[in-house]
Amino acid sequence: MNRIYLDNAATTPISSEVLNEMMPYLTTNYGNPSAVHAFGRETKHALDIARERIAKGIGCDPSEIYFTSGATEANNWVLYGIANANKDKGRHIITSKIEHPSVLNMCKRLEEEGFRVTYLDVDSQGFVRLDQLIHHLDSDTVLVSIMTANNEVGTIQNLQAIANIVGEKGITFHTDATQAIGAINFNVHEMGIDALSLSGHKINGPKGVGALYVKKGIKIAPFMLGGEQEYGLRAGTSNVAGIVGLGKAVEIATRDIVTNNKKIRQLRDYFIAQINKNIDMCYLNGHPIQRLSNNVNISFGMVDGESLMMMLDLNGIMVSTGSACSVGSVKLSPVLTAMGLSKDLVKGAVRFTLSKTTTKEELDIVVTQLVKIVQKLRQISPIAKSQVGTL
Ligand SMILES: *Cc1c(COP(=O)(O)O)cnc(C)c1O
Repeated sequence: MNRIYLDNAATTPISSEVLNEMMPYLTTNYGNPSAVHAFGRETKHALDIARERIAKGIGCDPSEIYFTSGATEANNWVLYGIANANKDKGRHIITSKIEHPSVLNMCKRLEEEGFRVTYLDVDSQGFVRLDQLIHHLDSDTVLVSIMTANNEVGTIQNLQAIANIVGEKGITFHTDATQAIGAINFNVHEMGIDALSLSGHKINGPKGVGALYVKKGIKIAPFMLGGEQEYGLRAGTSNVAGIVGLGKAVEIATRDIVTNNKKIRQLRDYFIAQINKNIDMCYLNGHPIQRLSNNVNISFGMVDGESLMMMLDLNGIMVSTGSACSVGSVKLSPVLTAMGLSKDLVKGAVRFTLSKTTTKEELDIVVTQLVKIVQKLRQISPIAKSQVGTL
């Protein structure tokens, strides 16, 4: 069976260009970059190049880039580190209800530790409510963290407007750009973005490596304690091969941004059109245009999304759902719930995420399978029957 992978928001394969750059650092170039001898200097140089590539990719200075174990750590760290280093100034953080769990769960932790967190609502297309942002900023606010593009529905926030509102008050603005690198252009200095998280494995780089950009002058407490790596702010022997791969992946993603996105966007719009043409009661979630070019999130009426995902999997097609079934209950997607979808449409949502290697032929196969499976599920599913009349 030929497999079709449409789960690129979950992870992507390492590209050969990236792997080639990494190989020497997995084999012969094994020096510890903190060592002063020749082997150490060689790997230190490789880290410097990676830092420069990432800085160039997002428009900051190399000295403002800190390597982490991924975007989860970058998000954890930026929230914890800025909150704790600026306690004397204030104890209020603003974020949104549709952030990644690595933001939301750290916010919960900070609340337990005495910080105040405001979770902004989003509208039906997934845009953060700017009126609420303006309303909640106060003299106690030390950090605003709002993701650039949502991993489930693909909506791209009005980032510049948010950065302007927050910047006007002199408050630090962080964005989780994990899904947006390679999708939109960043120039963090020009845009007034003070901190940004990114990850290797979402952009054809390796897993377990990411970076946090923090603008010079912003106070941030360390999160990993130990040696003097990363300017003494993030201890631990550097993941040299991973960092080299990350640097290359950011370079490629930002270099090929226009051609990749044009190609993927065309496929995406073709796929959405084919689904709408061949299956009734389908609803695209998120904004139709201001969305990641690879994201198609659709609620299938009178269908259980998890069943649909599993039946697609049996046919070699890999997708994902935002809601997860655990024994006897369903954990509904907080993102779709925050967007105000009915419970049935939340349960009926499936996310397809394309890549630059996705083909029209693959998408045609997926549509053919979708038609069959959706029809079958609508016939047999008790959930479908219970949903009749509620849509
Ligand atoms: C994947 C993802 C993360 C987590 O990144 P890891 O490198 O896997 O820890 C954080 N935020 C968003 C928006 C993501 O899509």
